Amino acid sequence: MNERHVGAPGQVKEVTSLANPLIKDIKALALKKFRDQQNAFMAEGLKLVIDALDLGWQIRTLVFAKAGRGNAAVEKVAARTVAAGGTVLEVSEKVLVAITRRDNPQMVVGVFTQRFLALRDIRADNGDVWVALDRVRDPGNLGTVIRTVDAVGAKGVILVGDTTDPFSVETVRATMGSIFAVPVAKATTEAFLAWRGGFSGLVAGTHLKGAVDYRSVDFSRGPVLLMMGNEQQGLPESLAASCDRLLRIPQAGRADSLNLAVATGIMLFEIRRGALKLEPIADQQ
Ligand code: SAM
Repeated sequence: MNERHVGAPGQVKEVTSLANPLIKDIKALALKKFRDQQNAFMAEGLKLVIDALDLGWQIRTLVFAKAGRGNAAVEKVAARTVAAGGTVLEVSEKVLVAITRRDNPQMVVGVFTQRFLALRDIRADNGDVWVALDRVRDPGNLGTVIRTVDAVGAKGVILVGDTTDPFSVETVRATMGSIFAVPVAKATTEAFLAWRGGFSGLVAGTHLKGAVDYRSVDFSRGPVLLMMGNEQQGLPESLAASCDRLLRIPQAGRADSLNLAVATGIMLFEIRRGALKLEPIADQQ
């Protein structure tokens, strides 16, 4: 392993061996067990890493491809990583392919410390929208919901019960960077129900047996907690009973239900309808 300086005010380690222990630790982040042990996760792409740093996430390791050497943006991120106390690794294509398990990996990968919001720290003010996901299983669904929560300006996501990991590589990829912008809390069903008891706004559940058309509700008063059910089973009785309203999105055709992330998107855009305005598109020239 060589060490050298590349614009960053610190040392960059050059790594070409898959047997390097630092690389082994990063590869292990593909498994939840090791993500939990290390309290870390991986995000791919230069823009994502820059956004994460801008938003105050703690970077532990920056990995970049040899091709990034001399690239001003990469070197700037490397300098920020060293300044934040992180390690910078310049690696071969082979190592990057192994870390990301992709044939055409991004030039930059960041390893960050995981961050969860505590339920007790959620303060819901007027106009705030929170989404509670009951036992969400699919990483693509969770990532898409986090991305959509970001896009509509909702406040965050609460994972209820046994769920897929928001810091898995698949979920992080599906968030397209929104994992760094959207606070995520997790709770057992019991802890969530206790917290829900103190929630002062409208608790809107969605249910295939909901009696109320989601378009008929006034969401403009107070905070809103949107509750979405598990992909296979929907909301269990205990959660459904805790909702102020059970809403349904009308459907035509033969499909039994909508995909969880699609249903969440429809609900969020309806809830936030009054708050979202088209911004003029900036002149490209
Ligand atoms: N078989 C499940 C059931 O019986 O509820 C289907 C669950 S659906 C794939 C996942 C979640 O998306 C539901 O629990 C609900 O929160 C929401 N959802 C999907 N389609 C919906 C609709 N037409 N109206 C209201 N909520 C819907």
